[in-house]
Amino acid sequence: MIKHFVDGKIYVGNSKRTGKVYNPATGEQTSEVNLASKEDLDFTVSKAKSAFLKWSRTPPAQRARVVFKFKELIEKNFDELTKLIVSEHGKVYEDAKGSLTRGLEVVEFACGIPHLLKGEFTENVGTDVDSWSIRQPLGVCAGITPFNFPAMVPMWMFPISIACGNTFILKPSEKDPSCSIRLAELFKEAGLPDGVFNVINGDKEAVDALLLNKDIVAISFVGSTPIAKYIYENAAKNEKRVQALGGAKNHCVIMPDCDLDQAVNGLMGAAYGSAGERCMAQSVAVAVGNIGNDLVSKISKKVMSLKVGPGMDKNSDMGPLVTKEHLEKVKGYVDLGIKEGAKLVVDGRNIKLQGYEKGFYLGGCLFDHVEKNMKIYKEEIFGPVLSVVRVKDFESAINLINDHEFGNGTSIYTRDGDVGRTFASKIKIGMVGINIPIPVPVAYHSFGGWKRSLFGDQHMHGPEGIRFYTKLKTITSKWPTGLRSDPEFVMPTMK
Ligand code: NAD
Repeated sequence: MIKHFVDGKIYVGNSKRTGKVYNPATGEQTSEVNLASKEDLDFTVSKAKSAFLKWSRTPPAQRARVVFKFKELIEKNFDELTKLIVSEHGKVYEDAKGSLTRGLEVVEFACGIPHLLKGEFTENVGTDVDSWSIRQPLGVCAGITPFNFPAMVPMWMFPISIACGNTFILKPSEKDPSCSIRLAELFKEAGLPDGVFNVINGDKEAVDALLLNKDIVAISFVGSTPIAKYIYENAAKNEKRVQALGGAKNHCVIMPDCDLDQAVNGLMGAAYGSAGERCMAQSVAVAVGNIGNDLVSKISKKVMSLKVGPGMDKNSDMGPLVTKEHLEKVKGYVDLGIKEGAKLVVDGRNIKLQGYEKGFYLGGCLFDHVEKNMKIYKEEIFGPVLSVVRVKDFESAINLINDHEFGNGTSIYTRDGDVGRTFASKIKIGMVGINIPIPVPVAYHSFGGWKRSLFGDQHMHGPEGIRFYTKLKTITSKWPTGLRSDPEFVMPTMK
């Protein structure tokens, strides 16, 4: 049974409710996870609240040393952590390793916290009056994370929040919870005081308890758009700071002048890597002008030769989907696409893997002639399904993307600098790639989408992460030397 990690130790809650955890490669249930009750959550918050008193007063340089040690321990245990991701999520080993590296980079960024928390100072804002601003920690923060990045997405949040002096409660996805517990154990081994980082496993009951608990001051969420909206509204209603990142439908524009082989290779990884279970997956290829036939001809051959298999098999390009329910949902979208009139060029629905007959596998699927009004275009499928939409020119491509409800990431393949620059400037999307298939910002920049891909106004990690997890205080001071001033009844101005 996978339990919780509270106040520096494994915690068995009072809830009797459990969820099932599977190995998607074999389809077998491998464990159960305890689903926390409101009482479990409230108990955890009380521990995190007590720990805040001391941790928030610990000098940033000392906090940084603990984070640095945590970084070393992640490096030392990299293989074990990667295998945990593969065993519950299903993605291939090298991809899981890459995602853990991206999380590790946020820990590295957080090691610079003494520098990152430095404030601003102005001498003489008035005669002999100085003013400075500092950033202070908020209190008990919480993170609610999705199944598709069991290490990386939590690591976008808690290393920065904790380095800033907050305490943190992570509610990971109940589908793949083990990696978070292991990270909490390693952070403790690094010297983190008890109660500073806690992991509560659970579902809606735990999430609702987080939203209602008055001692939680900030919530970071990553997941699907309907839940992101729910979190955003309810966290705000309960007077919490909130950033809620939602779903996506990312478009990759293929211009007629591009290096098509490069574009096809980029698109293959971006559409089918991690079986399309990435919020930055490119699920729509926008073929501009007359490039559609060549694009579909080249990419269909590659999709047909995709190696689908268990994540631990070095030869697999793509692993299974996370659960049977998710597999059925994605297959349902492929059925729907045919009904809606799109042309299914490659059909991955009937894949069978010898020895892994019960695994949650779906082969790569490719649709051509997908139209703007189809559900398979409008909705997030979150599986290995790429849709090709054909448009007449560059402007139509921009309008198509800007009209979509989601605004997470997008890319363009072109050799024309003017086109690339215009695209970056006019597109209403948070993260943009020019000849880069998956433009995920590195740890010291910030990650986030626009439109219904992000509710709230601060992106994750990098400078925005520091701003989210701290509050600004501005101090104005004067040390009178003998001369006393008379009462002043007008608004103070510079003198
Ligand atoms: P999800 O929304 O189902 O779950 C996310 C979290 O919310 C989980 O911890 C889950 O336990 C909790 N949750 C689920 N239903 C809830 C409810 N009714 N009330 C309260 N809490 C609830 O998302 P998922 O299926 O785990 O992850 C896939 C989604 O996440 C996709 O839509 C993907 O695009 C999105 N995602 C977005 C980003 C981003 O940066 N924008 C990154 C990764 C994933």
